[in-house]
Amino acid sequence: MTYQGGCHCGRLQVSFTTEKAATELPLRACQCMFCRRHGALTTSDPEGEVVLTVAEVPAGGWYRFGIGVTDFWVCPGCGVYVGAHVEVGGEGRAVVNTRALEQAREFTQGPTAMDYGDETREGRLARRARIWSPARVRVQPR
Ligand SMILES: [Zn+2]
Repeated sequence: MTYQGGCHCGRLQVSFTTEKAATELPLRACQCMFCRRHGALTTSDPEGEVVLTVAEVPAGGWYRFGIGVTDFWVCPGCGVYVGAHVEVGGEGRAVVNTRALEQAREFTQGPTAMDYGDETREGRLARRARIWSPARVRVQPR
């Protein structure tokens, strides 16, 4: 199954491929200020794949905060947050914001509130390598 989504204005397109049904994928409600303010509900499947397609990477790069290693895919045009990406050991890993997927309503697991504030940098990267989906960014000029 491939779930398609993206931002509001169409600059960012995201696809999430997984063999799991939307109804069984975990939903995480991260309690950091960024995610709360976006109302983000993220998911991932370490056996799946996330692909972000954009015409160009935003000038100045993707939004970063915290330990500064993660690209938050926030559209520079319309402000929608579609997912987050990090490189661990040379491999891309990502989560998608299910709110930005066309099938958003099919993700019916009760969201779990997550608080990662006490993680070390190493712990954070290790968790993402284990749980986030393999991912890549496709830059496809229009
Ligand atoms: Zn947009």
